[in-house]
Amino acid sequence: RASTGALPGWSQVDELLHEAHRRYAGLDEGTVADYIPVLAEADPSLFGLSLVETDGGAHHAGDAQTAFSIQSISKAFVFALVCDEIGHELVHERVGVNNTGLPFNSVIALELNDGSPMNPMVNAGAIATTGLVAGGSLEERWERIRSGLSRFAGRELALDHEVLRSESETNHRNQAIARLLQSYGRLDDDPADVVDLYTRQCSLAVTAEDLAVMGATLADGGVNPITGDQVVSAEVSRDTLAVLASCGMYERSGEWLYEIGLPAKSGVTGGIVAIVPGKGAIGAYAPRLDPAGNSVRGQRACAFLSRALGLNLFASL
Ligand code: GLU
Repeated sequence: RASTGALPGWSQVDELLHEAHRRYAGLDEGTVADYIPVLAEADPSLFGLSLVETDGGAHHAGDAQTAFSIQSISKAFVFALVCDEIGHELVHERVGVNNTGLPFNSVIALELNDGSPMNPMVNAGAIATTGLVAGGSLEERWERIRSGLSRFAGRELALDHEVLRSESETNHRNQAIARLLQSYGRLDDDPADVVDLYTRQCSLAVTAEDLAVMGATLADGGVNPITGDQVVSAEVSRDTLAVLASCGMYERSGEWLYEIGLPAKSGVTGGIVAIVPGKGAIGAYAPRLDPAGNSVRGQRACAFLSRALGLNLFASL
């Protein structure tokens, strides 16, 4: 199937999504993240898949409606909101677009690059990006983030307060990164406030279905295919997908692109959103992670769907 063609008919997509779920539901490789204490309590048997098409067609298999904290996947959507608000040139002055090749919470990556965060998908770049969110008070800025991500999802998203508390008590490294950014003059606001905002954005509760709708919005030139809401511009969607292609899957971003051929973002709770420009997006959730922090079942399901549906952007036939 040519990757440039449309998706197959609804029933075929639906069948293949369920097939992906059946194939990998028994895969027990990987471990649940535990560096944020409450995340260790996640049920490792959970597995949800969702695929939302840019025409609004939606498919779900397994635990697609189970809530989990969005974690790093928020980085993609906050980046898009900030670019839409202040323009990507200004954001680019603060945050680059190259992969670090280092873990997401690396301090060395920042030090090696003269204090300039290399991309918005690692913690240093994401914290710097969150620091650019417009608004006066902390609560005003938070509401801008929460309502913006909610527009991507097409429903009102809310905090998982238990995750927020657990992460706030243990996020010393992120606080250090924010202080370091401040020392390099790359954070205008109070570092503690910016880390608080960043921790809140990571603690928003979503489902695999939400991720698919959020991704489909980026696939659809910034228009949410369910609500019809233009959340960000088509240019911002394009720029965000470019950054996801190079930096979205931690230090395995190159391998992911090589095998699956789609811009994507993952998070340590086991979520993945993979975007197929012009066609739709896959949302996956399964808590067991590989050493880089990517969901094992989620990756396998996306690889299967990319092949079975002809989604690889680099395939000419
Ligand atoms: N809130 C997490 C952190 O900053 C996000 C990590 C991730 O999902 O990669 O440590």
